Order: sequence, then structure tokens, then C-alpha cells
Amino acid sequence: MTFRTRFAPTPTGPLHLGHAYSALLANDLAKSAGGAFLLRIEDIDRARSRSQWEAQIYDDLGWLGLNWHEPVFRQSDRLPSYTSALDTLWSRGLLYPCTCNRRDIAAAASAPQEGAPLLGPDGIIYPGTCRKKWQDTNRGIGKRPTDVPLRLDITFAAAQISDARQGNAKVGSFVETGAGPSGESGEVNFNLTELTDTIGDVVLSRRDMGTSYHLSVVLDDAAQGITHVVRGQDLFEATRIHVLLQKLLDLPTPQYHHHRLIRDDAGKRLAKRDDARAISKYRIEGCSPADIRAKVGL
Ligand code: GLU
Ligand code: ZN
Repeated sequence: MTFRTRFAPTPTGPLHLGHAYSALLANDLAKSAGGAFLLRIEDIDRARSRSQWEAQIYDDLGWLGLNWHEPVFRQSDRLPSYTSALDTLWSRGLLYPCTCNRRDIAAAASAPQEGAPLLGPDGIIYPGTCRKKWQDTNRGIGKRPTDVPLRLDITFAAAQISDARQGNAKVGSFVETGAGPSGESGEVNFNLTELTDTIGDVVLSRRDMGTSYHLSVVLDDAAQGITHVVRGQDLFEATRIHVLLQKLLDLPTPQYHHHRLIRDDAGKRLAKRDDARAISKYRIEGCSPADIRAKVGL
């Protein structure tokens, strides 16, 4: 297996030090393995993506000394693949429509009988309100609705791929070559309880996008032949959903390398709005690519 990894930024703001670390690390790992480093522009959020940010991404990465193999992959060119995967999942009864808004979800999740709301990578873990209303006889019937968000029923999904009708049966596994937030490494196994407690029934088709981060990333990693995903520890929990989707869609599971997050002086992890840490700012101030490497500890 040759080593193929990718950097997958979203063109909704400037790249900051955290992105630089992720891209440089992926590139370094590919180089030392004699493999390939690819670039993917994750621009499914049409409302927030800007061509100006995309241009800045190419410029900053080039300045850092990165060269990517093959043409750039753009998610906005890939909608037909996402649509067809959603149709498949729908026809197998794995998706259900969700009409909750953010306020409904917060209220249901903090109902007294639910205990403290659990937080996942997408925010509050969905308490399953619409799944409970969803009739089993409706599963996969008719045309897939496109005017409402669709969620993955992870309990039903897990039961299809293993004997995971019980919470503690293994649903999937992946090889971690970096470390999860609690130091997880090597073969990481997970069960249904971990899925329900750390991520829940995620939205796979957003109304505004006709897809979602989770679905697109899984289909695109497969389409680009990615063997090693290098990305931040903040996505460690989401990896469980990605592995579940790979199994449902009969796609290979790559190895994962989750890396530490670059934080500001107060210990908060950097976000797009942290313009002060933008690579372009450091460039203007006269930093060299080697200075950036040093700043992120490479
Ligand atoms: N577009 C995602 C981000 O910017 C990439 C996540 C991934 O590498 O899977 O965080
Ligand atoms: Zn709902």
C-alpha cells in the first residue's frame, strides 16, 4: 500500500497556524514514506466559501513550500456522488428526516430526564427526537426527501454491519498512528455506546448543501485513494462515524493520524476567526516558512 494523504481545508477564511501544522505534517509524513500529498478544497458550504479564500490557500501553501500531486479535488464538483450515496442509504432505511431546529435540540437534550446534554464534534449530541417519531414502516419508502435534513440512524446502521444490537458489541475499528484526545493509539475499536455517547445520529444531508461534511469526507477520501488521513484530534470522535459510513458504503478504511491541536497563549484552539494567527499575517510581518515550522513545533 503506497502512502497517500491529503490536506482538506475549507475556503471560508484564512489558513492559520493550525492549518499550517496539519498541512506540513501530512506532507512530511508522505515524503518520508515516499508517498503522495494531495489537496482537497472542502467547499460544500456554498454560502460561506469564497474564491478569494481558495486563492489564498494555494498561495499560502505554495509559500510554505508544499507541492501537491495531481489536480486539486473540489467538493463542489462532486455533488452527484454525494446524491447517489444518499439515495443508497435512504433506500436501505438508514436515514430519517429531522425537522428540529437548534432550539428544539437544545431543549430536548437538556430535558431533566436526559441529564446534562452531551457534546460531540457537531455540537450538542442529537437526542433522537425525530427518530423516535419515525415509523419503522417508513424506512426507505418512496423518494428521498431533499427539502429537509436527513440523519443517520446509527443504531439501525450498526445492527446491519455486526451483531451490534447491544451497546457493547464491536461496531468497527481503525488504526491510529497518531493519538486520540486521551492518547488512543494502535487499533482503536468502538462499540455502539461509544457512537451514541460521543457523536450520535449526525446529519448526512443538510438542507442548504444537499450533503454534509461527514458524508463528503468519506466519499472523497475513497475517491482520492487516501490510505492515511492526517488531521486534528478534534475529529477523533467523528472518525467513528466515518468508519461506520465506510462499512455501510463498502469503502476501505484508511489509517488515521490525529495530531495535537495548535493553541493560542490562553490554551484555546485556533479557529478561522483568529485572524491574528493567519499565515498571511505572519508573511506580511516578515516571517519565513522556517519560522512557521518552528512556531508549530516541527
Ligand atoms: N475541511 C475540514 C476542516 O477544515 C477537514 C477535516 C478533515 O481533514 O477530515 O476541518
Ligand atoms: Zn429532529
